[in-house]
Amino acid sequence: MLFSEIPEHNEFKNALIRHVALGRVGHAYLLVGPPGSANLTLAWAFATYLNCTFPIEGDACGNCSSCKSMAQWAHPDLQLLFPKKATGTQTEAEAQTIFKNYLRQHPFLTLEEWLAVLEQGSGQITKQDIHAITQRIAIQAFIGPYKIICIWLPECLNNAAANALLKTLEEPPARTVFLLVSCASEKIIPTIRSRSQQYYIPPFSKEAIEQLLRKQYTALDAHRYGAIAFLAEGDASKAFQLAEQAAPAHFDDFSSWMRHCYSGNFTKLIKQSESFHKLPIKEQKDFLRYALQLLRMTILGKCNPTVSDTTLADESTFSKNFGLHVTVSQLHLIIHLLNQAYAHLERYAHAKMMFANLSIQIATLLKAKQLSILGHALSKNK
Ligand SMILES: [Zn+2]
Repeated sequence: MLFSEIPEHNEFKNALIRHVALGRVGHAYLLVGPPGSANLTLAWAFATYLNCTFPIEGDACGNCSSCKSMAQWAHPDLQLLFPKKATGTQTEAEAQTIFKNYLRQHPFLTLEEWLAVLEQGSGQITKQDIHAITQRIAIQAFIGPYKIICIWLPECLNNAAANALLKTLEEPPARTVFLLVSCASEKIIPTIRSRSQQYYIPPFSKEAIEQLLRKQYTALDAHRYGAIAFLAEGDASKAFQLAEQAAPAHFDDFSSWMRHCYSGNFTKLIKQSESFHKLPIKEQKDFLRYALQLLRMTILGKCNPTVSDTTLADESTFSKNFGLHVTVSQLHLIIHLLNQAYAHLERYAHAKMMFANLSIQIATLLKAKQLSILGHALSKNK
């Protein structure tokens, strides 16, 4: 990974480059950014730059043997820690291979995505992981100028692991750089945070997401780059997932769901609750997130009719038509209900009950609007 492959964040890249030029490379950096931001790719590019044999102005060369092995996460001076299954039969080498293979394909991966790969509800980094890596660093000879330990999601360190890491940070080995890549720095113990140089990595802009999409997916319909970038809300992982869907997978389900809610067809709604229940939890959450985006888009479309021109054709038509039948405050209420439902799913609520209940609440909300229109028409006719 090179700095030039990551759009934006120039100020931060320049700061890192200056640290190297002045010989003031810190022993620990904490890069905090939301899921799908550039926090991990920037750490990866910095590690590549630190050990590049022939750096060019402001970036690694990308061609030397160090850069080539960094690109594969195979450099002997680069160690990587990430959340793993709490229990299991996987060896460390197997876990590393799976993670690195996935990371090469999905450089903006999120914890949620990774846990879906692991088929786990949670993952952690243990004291044994920290010990193994610090020992390896101590024994191994240097190949490049720096040894680098990249910890993806230090918020997943359990207590014993956090204390073990703290000990190492208190007496950092020479020419060793810790790159801590976090999405939730408030969950990291303050003593680790205070021993690191902390940087906030903001989400990508819509333009940057479009740029990443154009590079990664050359065969999309021209209008989809902008549409996906709009829906991704600065999250590159989400943008890539949307791009990989041939057609928006959730659109048909969502539009028929809203139709059944609007017509108060409870038989169909119960049936839909059953099929929702059968989906894996990740897809249930994806569906709710998709529904939230489309409802937000409907609000935007009602307030500013040019907005929906940037979305997919079917979604745009749906959004315009649905927008004619609901008020902005009803949309806000539905969004509130969906957010609540999402939180319930996070706590492993029974999906069928949750979805059936949600459908009834939305149908009742929409009915209220229909009744008020009817009442208004009747009073006019009097
Ligand atoms: Zn190089």
